Amino acid sequence: MDTANSEIKPLRWETLTKRKFDELDRSRCVVLVTCSPIEVHGPHLPLGADALEGEGLLERTLQALPERHRDRTFLKLPFIYAAPDTVPQPGSLFFRPSTTVAVLEDLGRGLASQGFRDVLVSNFHGSPRHFLAIEEACDRISRECGIRMVCVFSVMLARLTNGKNDLYHVLGSVPGVDRENLIDDTHGGLVETSQLLALHPDWVDPNYSKLPRRTPELWLAENGEAPVKDRGAGLPGVFQMLKEIRSGLRFFCAETYSGAPGAASPEIGNQILGILAGRSAEAVAEILDGKLTPEQCHSPLWNRRFLFVNRWMVKFANWLLGVPAGAVRTQPASQDRISPSAVPPNAR
Ligand SMILES: [Zn+2]
Repeated sequence: MDTANSEIKPLRWETLTKRKFDELDRSRCVVLVTCSPIEVHGPHLPLGADALEGEGLLERTLQALPERHRDRTFLKLPFIYAAPDTVPQPGSLFFRPSTTVAVLEDLGRGLASQGFRDVLVSNFHGSPRHFLAIEEACDRISRECGIRMVCVFSVMLARLTNGKNDLYHVLGSVPGVDRENLIDDTHGGLVETSQLLALHPDWVDPNYSKLPRRTPELWLAENGEAPVKDRGAGLPGVFQMLKEIRSGLRFFCAETYSGAPGAASPEIGNQILGILAGRSAEAVAEILDGKLTPEQCHSPLWNRRFLFVNRWMVKFANWLLGVPAGAVRTQPASQDRISPSAVPPNAR
């Protein structure tokens, strides 16, 4: 079969009958699953933004795969939204990192017992506690069951960020993107709004173009406080990370996005998805070739995972950072105040 340039259409697990499922050669299947939260993303993006971006990136990755892997069967599971560290606003759902590990571990073990050999976990939620939880589950299952279960997002972090923790410095060359707008564009900003405009334009509120640039640093300055972000090269130290997380948490109790959504466009979104999918396809091809082993698929923070996913460290960090129970604040964010009557009484 000539598979060059033909579109790869993954099979959706939940649509298969038992007869169709039994016809699959499971050892030749690549199972795809996205694990990303339901989370408030500004006043303008759908609550499933991260999951929709994770799925969109995975689908575009398939289209960029080299010829030698295009005859595999790609089998896609519904997305999993068990994820920690969501913006503490009503509409977000919050799970402990240990829940994410448990869900993916159970899933991976079940898949391995049915004869599946390759599992790719996608994501677009940048919290270290989240992607390290995915890595932890993938690592345990790959070792225990002898299959390849990999967090694609973490491979991307390792390859594209020079050891830092965000993907944005690789996107500065996209036409129409002002590099300044990428600074702290971490949540519901230029990058995510553009990607959603490219993937699901009907689910983006058209008023996105009127939203001003907002960042924790601008917010601190407005409140007369000094900046906390370390702009140096490499990973910040643990105390510096804690300071940054604490200031980010305070910011997201008051605001719902960080970045410049007003500068977004579907064209920029397609360019960004194209760059990320191209790089992701290179990594996935190496994984399927066996050149890149699961042990080599970790993010730059893997060596610090104890601090982020250990159950007691999570409790301690939440106490230290003052993470509210259930992780949802009780006051409306400033953006909500555009129309206070629209905020239901139980959300105030
Ligand atoms: Zn997001």
